[in-house]
Amino acid sequence: MTSNRRIVVLGGGESGAGAAVLAKVKGMDVWLSDMGSIAPKYKELLDKYEIAWEEGKHTEEKVLAADEIIKSPGIPATAPMVKKATAKNIPIISEIEFAGRYTDAKMVCITGSNGKTTTTMLTYHILRKAGLNVGLAGNVGNSLALQVATEHHDVYVIELSSFQLDNMYQFKANVAVLLNITPDHLDRYDFKMENYVAAKFRIMQNQDANDAFIYWQGDPIIDAQLKHMHTEAKMLAFDATDNASLAAYVDTNDVVKFNIDGREWSIPRAELSLKGLHNVYNSMAAGLSASCLDIKDDVIRRALADFEAVEHRLEFVRTVNGITYINDSKATNVNACYYALESMTTPVVLILGGKDKGNDYEELMEFVSTKVRAIVCLGADNTKLLNFFKGKVPVLTETHNMKDCLAKCTELAHEGDTVLLSPCCASFDLFHNMEDRGEQFKEGVRAIEEK
Ligand code: ADP
Repeated sequence: MTSNRRIVVLGGGESGAGAAVLAKVKGMDVWLSDMGSIAPKYKELLDKYEIAWEEGKHTEEKVLAADEIIKSPGIPATAPMVKKATAKNIPIISEIEFAGRYTDAKMVCITGSNGKTTTTMLTYHILRKAGLNVGLAGNVGNSLALQVATEHHDVYVIELSSFQLDNMYQFKANVAVLLNITPDHLDRYDFKMENYVAAKFRIMQNQDANDAFIYWQGDPIIDAQLKHMHTEAKMLAFDATDNASLAAYVDTNDVVKFNIDGREWSIPRAELSLKGLHNVYNSMAAGLSASCLDIKDDVIRRALADFEAVEHRLEFVRTVNGITYINDSKATNVNACYYALESMTTPVVLILGGKDKGNDYEELMEFVSTKVRAIVCLGADNTKLLNFFKGKVPVLTETHNMKDCLAKCTELAHEGDTVLLSPCCASFDLFHNMEDRGEQFKEGVRAIEEK
């Protein structure tokens, strides 16, 4: 690669700014353009590295003069400037693809519709406890590109969204994890599930016999797609059934068992720090990933037992006046809420609502009919939820802000119940983002007075 290659970075967030720094450090001619505004911390970073940038527009002739474009994952392929660049056959890659060219660290890559952050953080926790020089990248922490530019790590644990996978071509995961696939973000995939599935499966492209592909065998979509895939990678399947032919499974005594190449070890399910069936899957995926890196079984076992839950993911907030409050603000689709409800052991007052991404709530009925005492909707427009759940729960009501919502939940919950914020929807109608929604929930819960 010649150093005077002209690189244009589209998008000036964590991933774009990091990619620009890496290009600069590697001596390329780099320029960054963002249609919106660039946050002050990224402007500072770009200025520090003397990288030219613009915001509030894309200057077409400059963008189209690129030898290669690094596109931030938030920008869809249908954005006008991206379409023009595509028409001009300018290669468009993701930040991860770009960063992957400049490191020979081992890559543990994690994708799926749900559980990515949890599994990424859990895997990172295990590898750190094992004493590896490990970096955390992707949707969590600093961008991979920035770390490759400014630090050295032997291993990276990378959370990959389908948007990041979209523009990855040569990048190779040494360990690839595919947790599950349920409909999400279909608006970015021409509303075609097969396009979304194909994006997720890019995680296994380029893998060879020295690599491992870890996946949930119980997922019908993964199972169907695997029939069409060819890979040399070692296939490591997990499921929560008593099936000793899997690399990880749960036996009839509720012991999670691992078996990779005849190396066997186990941990009782009760000892896993993260609760709920979905977290058994996440723990199996993280345990298998660590095993692939030859981490000792007892280190993995201890790390799976002492990991602390990630904020906004089934996060216990407080028990007050006998009512437990749980913040699962990150549950922005129906499947995430399904698993949150699955893990509940008390009657639930459930908070649902926000920006609906084409949800089908039928999936929740299995638990709604047995566990949910009341649904309190929390959205700018709750019509779809009110129509769907009418007559299906003892109490159904709606609110339009967190304060009213919490007051309603507290009024409806009985002693021993759980109030669960697991909204199935994005947060942008009433909140800045899912973190803001979760913070407002937690603040409100902390302010509840003891009787
Ligand atoms: P992601 O990064 O993929 O969005 P998170 O780990 O942040 O995933 O979890 C998002 C939501 O999905 C949480 O509300 C959590 O309860 C739920 N969840 C976590 N792991 C799984 C899983 N393996 N399957 C289904 N839902 C899950």
